[in-house]
Amino acid sequence: MSASLLAEFALSPRPRDPSWRARAACGDADPDLFFPPDGVSAEPGRRICARCPVRQECLDYAISNGIAHGTWGGLSERDRRVLRARRLRALRRDRDRAILAAHVGGLSEEAIGRALGLTRSSVSRIVLRHHNQLSLKS
Ligand code: SF4
Repeated sequence: MSASLLAEFALSPRPRDPSWRARAACGDADPDLFFPPDGVSAEPGRRICARCPVRQECLDYAISNGIAHGTWGGLSERDRRVLRARRLRALRRDRDRAILAAHVGGLSEEAIGRALGLTRSSVSRIVLRHHNQLSLKS
C-alpha cells in the first residue's frame, strides 16, 4: 500500500463542504429548540430534524468535529457519543489493518506515521500489538 493511499485512513477530521447548511430545515427556527435548557424537551427540535434534507451531513459534521452540545442530525448528545465511539472503533480497526498491510508491503514505520499523522512509536505499537494478537491465536 502506498503512502498516499494510506493517508485515506487518517483519523483526523477532514475539511468538509459547509454548503449543506444552506439547505437546513432549521434555518429560520429558534436555536433554543436545538439547545434546550435543562428540563426542556428536545422533541420539537428533533421533529424539525426528522424532515431535514441534510440530516446526515449535519450528523456527520457534529460527530467528526466532536460537537458535544445540542441536537444535531436529530440525535441527542448521548446518542451521538455512542455513535461516535462506534464509528471511531471501526475507523481505528480499518486504519490498523491499513497500517499492517503497508508494513507487510515494506513501507517504513516513519513513512506510515507521516502518511497518517502518527509518531513512529505509535505505528510500532500498533504493529506490535497486532503481531502479538496473531501469535496468541496461533
Ligand atoms: S438535522 Fe436538524 S439540526 Fe441539523 S441542519 Fe437539519 S434541522 Fe438543523
